[in-house]
Amino acid sequence: MIRELHEKLEKEEVTKEELFEEAKTLAEKYQEEFNSFVTILDEAKSKRRADSILKGIPYALKDNISTSGILTTASSNILKDYVPVYDATVYQKLKKSGAVLLGKTTLDELAMGGTGTTANTGVVRNPWNREHLIGGSSAGSASAVALGIVPFAIGSDTGDSIRKPASFGGVVGFKPTYGRISRYGLFAFASSLDHVGVFARSVEDVAIVTDIIKGEDSKDMTSLEDDGKVYAEEIKKDTTGKKLFYIKEICDIEEYPNKTEKLEKTLKEFQDLLEKCREQGFVVEEVSFDKKLLEAIYPTYMTISCAEATSNNANLTGIQFGPRGNGENIEEMMFQARTEGFSELIKRRFVLGSYILQKENQEKLYLNACRIRRLIVEKMNELLKEYDGMILPASGGGAPKFSESSEQVSDSHYILENHMVIGNFGGFPSITIPYCFDEEKMPVGVNITGRVMEDDVVLNIAYKIETLTGLKGIKAGEENV
Ligand code: GLN
Repeated sequence: MIRELHEKLEKEEVTKEELFEEAKTLAEKYQEEFNSFVTILDEAKSKRRADSILKGIPYALKDNISTSGILTTASSNILKDYVPVYDATVYQKLKKSGAVLLGKTTLDELAMGGTGTTANTGVVRNPWNREHLIGGSSAGSASAVALGIVPFAIGSDTGDSIRKPASFGGVVGFKPTYGRISRYGLFAFASSLDHVGVFARSVEDVAIVTDIIKGEDSKDMTSLEDDGKVYAEEIKKDTTGKKLFYIKEICDIEEYPNKTEKLEKTLKEFQDLLEKCREQGFVVEEVSFDKKLLEAIYPTYMTISCAEATSNNANLTGIQFGPRGNGENIEEMMFQARTEGFSELIKRRFVLGSYILQKENQEKLYLNACRIRRLIVEKMNELLKEYDGMILPASGGGAPKFSESSEQVSDSHYILENHMVIGNFGGFPSITIPYCFDEEKMPVGVNITGRVMEDDVVLNIAYKIETLTGLKGIKAGEENV
């Protein structure tokens, strides 16, 4: 993990070039089977004079984050040969810290989707079992960390795109408060929901990386002033007396008419974990959350995100970037470029988005969705007055097999599969850590979401709970891959 690697580098037991070569060899070895990367770089480029803890440490960036001079495709044909001329702030900051970019990771096309199966370069497979997906959209970042290729990777999260693949990959995934990390250079999907965040194999590593990349950025108007806290220190605080709630409508097996063994096991192990939390001094209580509101999460998310995505991606015409379409005039050229350049899933979402944004539908669809979003956030804030955080399973079980997947990873338990969107609706800091294995031996994560601005508290709680799971630092073993 990061601290150990840092010490080895300091003591000159290993050089940054060796670390890079090692990571690159692994990345290449696993590429054909798992498809974590869009681009693997040839050589270690990093600042000589940096003195941060990340100096010399290899990492990966999701391929929707702008890297000047390095291909950045968002895993879409419409950007398949796009080489940006500017750096995202998160990349700049990591460069400055001396961290060494190994490569750009595969995502669901344009970060839309939750399965890791829609990249233009093919599906991403789960390191714990190749028959299973890893989830998305930050599929490659999750799998690169789960495979132990890099100690950390950067992703983006609009609905749950860091926290869901973290759950399926048996790694830690953290999305901080909205604005905590600059989004300058992240390809916008749904701007009111988009976040940059971190994957690693421990809460401490996630905290270390967040410390380096957080902070205000004059290039991103939505970025927050730095809170001046060192999360890697804050995590060690005593958590005795911290109050957590879980939602009855999500965690009670009786709520599920079509319950499966997998779900039963996940919920039972979740209760066991809560018991351990209580033994360690947490107060954990069950609360009720209006079921109508819970059921509205997914349609509300789709309405808002498709509308914003349609508008944000209107610049992908094949004129400024990407392969030019053929045609007699600009309109025909754009039509052809977009028809060829996007997959079905993307086109479906743009059709929905355009419909939602039509003047006559805006009030009924878009503005209504915004109202429901507000009601959900208000309800959450009300609960967070009394509690320090919400704790819930990140999914109803481990990753499904490719044969079982649809655009959504599970339709049958859709409140359970979609509650992490609450974190995006309200910009709440939210983290997933591994907590159990399902009956197919696939890892499952637990999610903790806290008050806006209290990233330190969420990390602190997760750091403590990580010690209770017995799964700290797990990695998909050689026997799996
Ligand atoms: N699975 C969600 C979707 O399909 C989330 C995507 C994301 O967070 N980028 O849009």
